Amino acid sequence: MLGLGRLARKRNKAVVLLSGGMDSALALAMTCKAVNPQCVHAITFDYGQLNREELTRSEALCAKLGCHWSQVPLEAFGLMAARAGCGTVRGGTNDPHASMLPHKNMVFVSMGLAFAESIGAESVTLGVISTDCFMWDAGKGYFDTLQRLTAIEIRTPLITMSKADIARALEQEGIVIESDTTSCYLHGGCGECPACFVAAQARDGW
Ligand SMILES: [Zn+2]
Repeated sequence: MLGLGRLARKRNKAVVLLSGGMDSALALAMTCKAVNPQCVHAITFDYGQLNREELTRSEALCAKLGCHWSQVPLEAFGLMAARAGCGTVRGGTNDPHASMLPHKNMVFVSMGLAFAESIGAESVTLGVISTDCFMWDAGKGYFDTLQRLTAIEIRTPLITMSKADIARALEQEGIVIESDTTSCYLHGGCGECPACFVAAQARDGW
């Protein structure tokens, strides 16, 4: 009976890694549509990111969609990334490599899996998109490898989508890019960092 109770709990719960940006916002909206939003638990990592709106917009989006939200402290990861010279991007570049945080996906997926285990969830969803796949830790093969290590499903439903696809789909879901998400690496919409550059391209490109 103990096992049955655990199986019943596991049946519907889903974890979504939410960054506050466009991609994970769509992954969350799609997950909330696929299952009851009350069964969806979004988590946002606080690793000392400069754009604190990532946290406030994430919380507000979860309230809008009717799902659960938790903020998970990962200060140590932010400190290590900064010591490695990563994540310290400033304005004036549209090179996405400048903002890469090595091993971010492994750390974030691992924390997501641990969170999922703690609440009895059956999946962890990430908003990785096709243009992220230039990074060695964001391609399909990378996630396939991680999947072999766990029974919890690792979902990347946007992995073939472009940023313009995401912008279109967000509008269809009733999510307003400018007010429900934040894509800036620095502070609310600096207009100069790689994320702002890509977001502007996506909005202009469809
Ligand atoms: Zn920016």
